[in-house]
Amino acid sequence: MDSMFEDTQTPEMTLPYGVDLNEIAAGPKPTTSLQRRRSPLAEPSRQLASLEAIDLSQLPHAGEFSARIAEAGWAELRPATLEIFQINVGKLCNMTCRHCHVDAGPDRREIMDRETIEACLQALDQTTAHTVDITGGAPELNLHFRYLVNECVARGKHVIDRCNLTVLLLPTLQDLPQWLAERGVEVVCSLPHYRKFNTDNQRGQGTFEQSIEALHRLNAVGYGTGNPQRRLTLMSNPVGAFLASNQTKMEQEWKAGLLKNHGVTFDRLIALNNMPISRFLEWLEASGNLEGYLELLVNSFNPATVSGLMCRNTLSISWDGRLFDCDFNQMLNLEVQSPTDQRPHIRNFHPDWLAQRHIVTGRHCFGCTAGAGSSCGGAIE
Ligand code: SF4
Ligand code: SF4
Repeated sequence: MDSMFEDTQTPEMTLPYGVDLNEIAAGPKPTTSLQRRRSPLAEPSRQLASLEAIDLSQLPHAGEFSARIAEAGWAELRPATLEIFQINVGKLCNMTCRHCHVDAGPDRREIMDRETIEACLQALDQTTAHTVDITGGAPELNLHFRYLVNECVARGKHVIDRCNLTVLLLPTLQDLPQWLAERGVEVVCSLPHYRKFNTDNQRGQGTFEQSIEALHRLNAVGYGTGNPQRRLTLMSNPVGAFLASNQTKMEQEWKAGLLKNHGVTFDRLIALNNMPISRFLEWLEASGNLEGYLELLVNSFNPATVSGLMCRNTLSISWDGRLFDCDFNQMLNLEVQSPTDQRPHIRNFHPDWLAQRHIVTGRHCFGCTAGAGSSCGGAIE
C-alpha cells in the first residue's frame, strides 16, 4: 500500500529530541522507573504475587474475578468484534509519573522497531479494526511514529495519539500539533486534574504549566473546537486511592475551569481508574493503601460494565510484537492464549484464533469493572 505522506522523520531530526530526555528540561520527573531502582516490583510476576497475597476471603467470591463475572452471567470472558488495534510503541518517556502503569521513563530503551511496525500494519490489514490507538511511554519519541501514523491514515483508520502533553514542547517535536491536525489524528492527552496542585503532585513540579502551554498549541491549530477532524480528548486518573468520579460532571467542571482560568478548550473528557499495578502498585504498598484499594475495587464491582470491557474489542501489541488482551495484561506479561501450539506474535497473527481465544483475567481486572467501569475510552457505563 502506498503511503499518503512521505516518512519525513529522520534520525537527525529526532535524536536527541533537541534535549537530553534525562534532564528536567525535557519533562518533569517526580520519581524514577522501578527498573532503574532495581525494585523487585519491576518484575510483573512480583506484582501479580503482591495482589494475590492480599487476604480478600471476606469479600464476595473471595476476590476472584472469574467467579465474580460468572455470577454476573459471564461463564467466560470472550472477545467481541475486533475494533481497536492498540500499539504500544515503547516504554521510553520524557516523564516518570508516580502512577505510571507502564513503568515508563527516559531510561527505558524498549522501543518498537520498523520491522515490527510493518508486521503490525500487515496484521491490521487482515482485520476489520477501524481504530489504531498508539500508546507508550510517549509514543511520539519512537522514530517511526510518523511513519506508523501516515500508514494508518492512508488505510482510512481513525488514529489516536496518547500524548502526555509535555512531550509537545520538546524542541524537535514542536511541529507535531500541526502535523497531527493535518492528518485528523485524535489526541488523547493525560492530565490528572485541571488544577495545578493535583496535577503536579502526580506528574511532577511544572507539569501543569507545561500541559497548559501544550494545550494552547493544540487549540491554536484547531484542536478542541468541536471539529471531529481535530478531536482533543483529556484523560484523567484519580490522584489517590479512590475511584474515578462521574465523567459527565467532571467534563462540565473541567471545561468551565480550563476556559475561565487558562483560555483552553477541549472536546471531551474521559475518566479512568488507576490500576493496581506497576508504579501505582508501589505507591499503594508504600502508603499502606493496597488492601483498602483492592477491597474498594472488588466491592464496587459493576456487572453492567463487563460487556463493554476493552479487552473484548481491542488487541494490544507490545513494543516487541507480542500480543495481549489489553495494555494492563501487557504490563503484567500475561500474553493472549492461543488455541494452537504456536506462541502468538504479530508476525504470525491470525484473526481466526484471535476470535476463538479466552481472555486472561486476574485480580487487577477489578480496576476495569469498579464503579462506572474503566477502559482506555473512559467510563464504560
Ligand atoms: S504516565 Fe504517561 S507520561 Fe507519565 S511516565 Fe507513564 S507513560 Fe510517561
Ligand atoms: S485488565 Fe484487561 S483483561 Fe482485565 S478486565 Fe481490564 S481490560 Fe479486561
